[in-house]
Amino acid sequence: MQIKPYWQNYVDGSWVDGGAGRVEVVNPGTGEVLAEQALADAADIDRAVQAARRVHQSGVLTAMRPVERGRMVQAIGRYLIENADDIAQVLTLEQGKPLWEAHREIQGAARYFEYYGNQAETLEGRSIPLGAGYFDFTHYEPYGVSAQIIPWNFPLEMTARSLSCGLATGNACVVKTPELTPLSNYIYGHAAEAVGLPAGAVNILCGWGHEAGAALSAHPDVNQIVFTGSVKTGIAIATAAAANVVPCVLELGGKSAAIVHDDADLEAMEKDIRWGIFFNAGQVCSAMSRIVVHESRHDELVERAVKVAKSLSVGPGIDRAEAGLTMGSMVSEAQRDRAARMVAEAEAQGAHVATGGRKMNIPGAFLEPTVLTGVSPDMTIAQEEVFGPVLSVIPFRDEAEAVAIANGTEYGLVGGVFTRNLDRATRAAQKIRAGQVFVNEWFAGGVETPFGGYGKSGYGREKGREALLNYVQTKNVAIQVR
Ligand code: NAD
Repeated sequence: MQIKPYWQNYVDGSWVDGGAGRVEVVNPGTGEVLAEQALADAADIDRAVQAARRVHQSGVLTAMRPVERGRMVQAIGRYLIENADDIAQVLTLEQGKPLWEAHREIQGAARYFEYYGNQAETLEGRSIPLGAGYFDFTHYEPYGVSAQIIPWNFPLEMTARSLSCGLATGNACVVKTPELTPLSNYIYGHAAEAVGLPAGAVNILCGWGHEAGAALSAHPDVNQIVFTGSVKTGIAIATAAAANVVPCVLELGGKSAAIVHDDADLEAMEKDIRWGIFFNAGQVCSAMSRIVVHESRHDELVERAVKVAKSLSVGPGIDRAEAGLTMGSMVSEAQRDRAARMVAEAEAQGAHVATGGRKMNIPGAFLEPTVLTGVSPDMTIAQEEVFGPVLSVIPFRDEAEAVAIANGTEYGLVGGVFTRNLDRATRAAQKIRAGQVFVNEWFAGGVETPFGGYGKSGYGREKGREALLNYVQTKNVAIQVR
């Protein structure tokens, strides 16, 4: 597929240039420039917000029966599937993931539209008894203009997560796409047109975070903000939202741990290691970046983790169409260098590289799949998000120590426990401080299951029915019957 050299933003139903010029999008699998993307400035953001506001105030989205709105949302998902071959190429070339993982991401994105399209008509209010002479009920109304700021690791799926929910609940949406991977999001502009949404209901703009992102999160006509990204940016966005008394959802980073007990099925766990830390080259907020393993199984666990890491065929994602033991590049050389630096620092602090740890000697942003042992819970590598294919293994002696290590970071996105003992699993599920706990399968769950952080991993929930409530406000109507 020939990638077109220049990509525009989608504002108020038109494809437009950006006031902040253009940025070169690099293929991290080769290091070569792939295309140029228009960059929005504050004035472009304002046009998009005003368009969304106009759509909201026109009442066109709220006048529809929810079932009709839901069908439109579902049609966006089908549009993604129909165009999957083209989107997957673009996604892989801009982000670096294997082509088959790109297809998987498209399926995942489509699933959000299917699920929330269905949910559109399930949001029902309730009637509250106030005694004779009164009739009281609640219902939900959309906030109006939903601003959605997207990271680069799953650009298509992260937009799907908020856009599907935002539209299903009747909001008009302004999406700020990531500077590193803006191209694949073009599909949402085309999809919005194809399914018949009015111009301005969906706006897709790329721009620098400090310029377009900041302008969007501080815009006085934005009514609700959904942000997925780093803690530092989340704090800046929540601060801007607070100044306008606007609610926001923050889906931030993680440093999630799997507790592996002495009775765990380690052979079965090889699959969890493969997915947990090497999927998307470890650039997953809910990655299994630490394994806290009982000392009696430590050596066997490390042996298996090393085997998994070494079994991966690493190279340009575009050459990796078949599902299998493959890993693509990281998103950029800067991210790769940061991860490699963190590994080197861990070594200097006494950790041991059981396998990997080095930049690969080929063009592109490649880091060897890495397993570290001798990691102590207070090391930087065990505290800070690497956002790369780097697993830290930490031994424990008893259950209390394992839980303390798992909970011993400022994050709390997900956690996991691997054991055949139901009591142990249940105790861990109660004690792990995280928004989601996996038992015996990392990444168990799906679009139906609520997801979000404790602690510095954020607040609010995406996925599941819980997410819908982020996009609506409750109205109570109290009637005196005369
Ligand atoms: P980032 O915070 O640097 O950027 C995310 C988005 O915010 C980008 O679109 C960026 O342009 C924008 N942005 C940057 N500065 C801004 C500002 N001052 N105001 C408004 N917007 C601004 O994060 P990233 O490097 O793109 O993504 C990696 C991070 O995202 C990791 O920490 C990862 O854990 C997290 N993440 C979390 C989830 C989740 O669901 N919890 C999912 C994916 C990624």
